[in-house]
Amino acid sequence: MPSRSALHARAVAAIDQQRHALAELSARIHANPEIGYQERQASQWIAAFLEDAGFEVHRAYRGLETAYRGDASGKGSGPTVAVLSEYDALPDIGHACGHNLIAIMGVAGAIGARAVLDSVPGRVAAIGTPAEEGGGGKVALLRAGGFDDVDVAMMVHPSSRTLPSRTSLASNRVDVEFTGRAAHAAAQPDRGLNALEGVLQTFNSVNAMRQHLRSDARVHGIVTSGGSAANIIPAYAASKWSVRALDHQYQQEVLRRFIACAQGAATATGTTVKVTVNENAGYENMVPSTPLAERWADHLTGLGVAIQPAVSDERMGSTDMGNISQVIPSIHPYIAIAPDGTPGHSVEFRDFAGTPEAFDNAIAAAKAMALVAVDVLADRSLYESARDEFERRRREGVVRGRP
Ligand SMILES: [Zn+2]
Ligand SMILES: [Zn+2]
Repeated sequence: MPSRSALHARAVAAIDQQRHALAELSARIHANPEIGYQERQASQWIAAFLEDAGFEVHRAYRGLETAYRGDASGKGSGPTVAVLSEYDALPDIGHACGHNLIAIMGVAGAIGARAVLDSVPGRVAAIGTPAEEGGGGKVALLRAGGFDDVDVAMMVHPSSRTLPSRTSLASNRVDVEFTGRAAHAAAQPDRGLNALEGVLQTFNSVNAMRQHLRSDARVHGIVTSGGSAANIIPAYAASKWSVRALDHQYQQEVLRRFIACAQGAATATGTTVKVTVNENAGYENMVPSTPLAERWADHLTGLGVAIQPAVSDERMGSTDMGNISQVIPSIHPYIAIAPDGTPGHSVEFRDFAGTPEAFDNAIAAAKAMALVAVDVLADRSLYESARDEFERRRREGVVRGRP
């Protein structure tokens, strides 16, 4: 086997060779935002890109129309390293989470790792995971066996800070719908049952509960339907919610209490309530692999990009990468593409995600990821320490492990 530094140089050169094409791909996805499970163009563009780069590509991977998987194999048996892409946008606001950059970082990371496969054993899988923003593409792929043969998984997310690892909140998306009875709001209000009051009472009960939740809990909702005219008692009203907390166990307790709020609101208003907990959007908390995250940080620093020190009150959302991290050693580091403090899911963040500076940082992050992948394939001790840590966490109940 060539020296490690020779392998690293090969991976970096392979990414540099595709630099212009990757910039064009990122810009094209950014300019054509598609929301979860409708990423038909983006998934086709990326699949074609991987094919051109020498991967054996399966479209509609595991029956998910906008998922794909590109494989490349080395000589002999070794671990399968998956490098993941996301490419869904947010409704109305476009690529305000910067998934156009996640898309190309996944492609670049896989291309870099593939470049050493004639010298090392194992396999590289570039997996396209749709609908991260609430639709849980990774949850669906996991359930369909899409990660059964994968040993290690990695992706990088754009952010306003560069962090090798951070946990994420366990989360459920919940639809809460009330059904009552319509009536003239002035002439016969006593004959109506007000579904909108069910929604409003749910908000009030959640706000009353909030004082008694742990500080890491997050319960937040919007009203998606609240009647059609002021003189009609709304017979139907609907709301969408996220219920989150730092760990799965407490998150499930908050979810039970949240559902009780909705049921209490139905009792109080004489309406009926339907609570739908979206099974693909049950996001587990992210537990990053320490050895792999540290290795990514080392490589990124080596490429001249500084790591920001972690702070005690790190802000976090939820990601379906959490579910992957519960079954195999995984990393989900963050690369700064916007000034510190720029909120995610904002117009500002969307605009930064399209800049050449953001692309430059994303390429550095992808190179660092490719180098971690190379190390997993070429350095048995790194792979084993990642596996050992995962096994220890499984015994301690920190991660679930494979079912
Ligand atoms: Zn997001
Ligand atoms: Zn995101």
